[in-house]
Amino acid sequence: MAPAAAPSAASRIAVVTGASSGIGAATARQLAGAGYRVVLTARRKDRIEALAEEIQAAGHKATAYPLDVTDRAAVDEFASAFKTVGVLVNNAGGALGADDPVAASDPEDWRRMYETNVLGTLNLTQALLPKLEASGDGTVVVVSSTAGFAAYEGGGGYVAAKHAEHVLAETLRLEIVGRPVRVVEIAPGMVKTDEFALTRFGGDEDKAAKVYQGVAEPLTADDVADTITWAVTRPAHVNIDLLVVRPRAQASNTKVHREG
Ligand code: NAP
Repeated sequence: MAPAAAPSAASRIAVVTGASSGIGAATARQLAGAGYRVVLTARRKDRIEALAEEIQAAGHKATAYPLDVTDRAAVDEFASAFKTVGVLVNNAGGALGADDPVAASDPEDWRRMYETNVLGTLNLTQALLPKLEASGDGTVVVVSSTAGFAAYEGGGGYVAAKHAEHVLAETLRLEIVGRPVRVVEIAPGMVKTDEFALTRFGGDEDKAAKVYQGVAEPLTADDVADTITWAVTRPAHVNIDLLVVRPRAQASNTKVHREG
């Protein structure tokens, strides 16, 4: 693999949403290592501040900015702090209430999933698009999911939200063609992160552990961060439209090889 190109001065700020854990935290570390000045956002201030300090201690540039992606006024205020932004990684999101069939799932879970995954991505993208364009070489990354491409039982609300996120990325790419902003979608399959499955099952550790039971090597947050960093550091004219990444043990959302 060619070494990551150092970001140009105008495109060196990378905003990462959901940087307080999992894929977002790993992405912030890796983009900082690739030379970006990373801006970490999430709701948990203590977590992003600690990570910013860790990244700074490693000799890189990082700042923390507490932000709820569903709060449009707060997002607009956040965006007003920048003249230019090189990279926006829309990673904040997740699933709630898996295993509930459409007939019995909680509409409140569906609303929250839509607000975080879809409207959160819309909010940040709308607010930062002028700054990304002003960099002369901007990149919007959307972390969707393989749930954005096929339905599975018990996942209706998440599947619907991730389909919407996929469509947001596809539509935006069509609409801004000719402007200096790339739109990259990364769609991971099963990733073993500390919190994703726990959040999905409302804190039930046994249910969360079963998701990964017997799977030899689920993806890690670092695996996904690696694909994001690779896509972002391609030459400016190269747009990685969509990258689907799964563990070898997973052939589809429902076909997973489990041992034992
Ligand atoms: P995670 O560890 O649960 O991380 C989710 C992140 O989103 C946290 O940093 C959380 O931070 C943030 N977040 C949630 N609601 C937010 C809000 N309203 N405003 C701002 N930040 C918010 O999950 P992950 O596994 O790293 O997942 C990251 C992304 O990858 C999600 O979009 C997820 O859907 C997607 N994905 C995950 C998997 C998987 O298997 N793990 C597979 C495919 C796709 P705070 O709570 O501090 O706000």
